[in-house]
Amino acid sequence: MSAVEPFSAVEIIAAKRDKFTLTNPQIDWVVDAYTRGVVADEQMSALLMAILLNGMNSQEISRWTNAMINSGEKMNWSALDRPTVDKHSTGGVGDKITLPLAPLVAACGAAVPQLSGRGLGHTGGTLDKLEAISGWQASLSNEKMLQVLQECGAVICAAGAGLAPADKKLYALRDVTATVEAIPLIASSIMSKKIAEGTSALVLDVKTGGGAFMSDPLKARELAQTMVGLGKDAGVKTLALVTAMDIPLGLTAGNALEVRESLEVLSGGGPADVVELTVIFAREMLELVGIKGKDPANALRDGSAMDVWRKMISAQGGNPDAPLPVAKENLTITAESSGTILSMDAMSVGLAAWRLGAGRSRQGESVQSGAGIEIHKKPGEKIAAGEALYTLHTDTPERFARAQEVLEGSVAIGSGEVKRLPLIVERIS
Ligand code: URA
Repeated sequence: MSAVEPFSAVEIIAAKRDKFTLTNPQIDWVVDAYTRGVVADEQMSALLMAILLNGMNSQEISRWTNAMINSGEKMNWSALDRPTVDKHSTGGVGDKITLPLAPLVAACGAAVPQLSGRGLGHTGGTLDKLEAISGWQASLSNEKMLQVLQECGAVICAAGAGLAPADKKLYALRDVTATVEAIPLIASSIMSKKIAEGTSALVLDVKTGGGAFMSDPLKARELAQTMVGLGKDAGVKTLALVTAMDIPLGLTAGNALEVRESLEVLSGGGPADVVELTVIFAREMLELVGIKGKDPANALRDGSAMDVWRKMISAQGGNPDAPLPVAKENLTITAESSGTILSMDAMSVGLAAWRLGAGRSRQGESVQSGAGIEIHKKPGEKIAAGEALYTLHTDTPERFARAQEVLEGSVAIGSGEVKRLPLIVERIS
């Protein structure tokens, strides 16, 4: 005889529909029962939509997050002799910061267990980028993860199936029910994985502006505050930087192109915004775990961050010396008029890179490693009519037209004021 369930999903959906606060036992049960397959997808879809429309208070969000953590295993890094610290970005265009940052922070003395994801919509994913490196493996056993962390100080890999399985089911359902954008659901999704990952400290990069999921800075602030609260309640030292995603980061969007740019940063060069953000995050991460007297900018200049990168890539089966893939075809787009570039729409650039093959249009599809966009001039720089603005890369040239379409009108060129968000919009601790 099957066990009698203590609640019915319908009661819980009706409670949230009618704007009641869900009780702790209701939340624990509904998350667990959904993970077990007792609550059906259509019932959870209705509950998610009720949460999106009517919200959750901080007690409900905290309990929901804990229920997601308790749906799976918790990692433990107590065998390490260094403090653990991680960083998580809510996603942006050209956001390759994790690639140079993880080895940089490791080079300065912390351990960085970075469980990362794949591209989501118009935003790129760290795992897709690193898979552009010949032989590199995203999926590691927990034992191998610990070994790489011990030997290199940093590991970047996919979260295993045992980590927050409730999030895996909920995320896939949100994606197809127009319920991704709810702050309680984004915050609990991200923080359940980060808390289950077992890091002692966490710096969140909450992106805002046209190329971010939270384009409104006030909503980005609310998301950042919610996540910082959840981290602290779980005993994780957490702070958030709300950062600019009105224009793309750096000069590339696309997998191998972004690895190339990250290598420039690790060699002491690279675009100023990528270097600045990487160093700011490294300083925050080191401060959070009490590592003093190390200047991350030096570790980029003296090659020590690059040494960790090479070791980390090799430990995960990759060949750090292998040439990066290059797309079969490219097409340069030139400026239509002369003047100063006043703005550049990050969303258009992200969508174009996606359409060129850097992202997926169906679940499970493989991405083109060489596809993406190079940006030749950024806002604030002068450009002449006919000068190169973007170079588009793809293996499938029939994709150029759709990418060009979305890039039309993506820059404003003139003589007025350059409209930009500051790189760091707000710090929330
Ligand atoms: N990243 C996640 O892991 N979850 C979300 O809900 C949004 C971004």
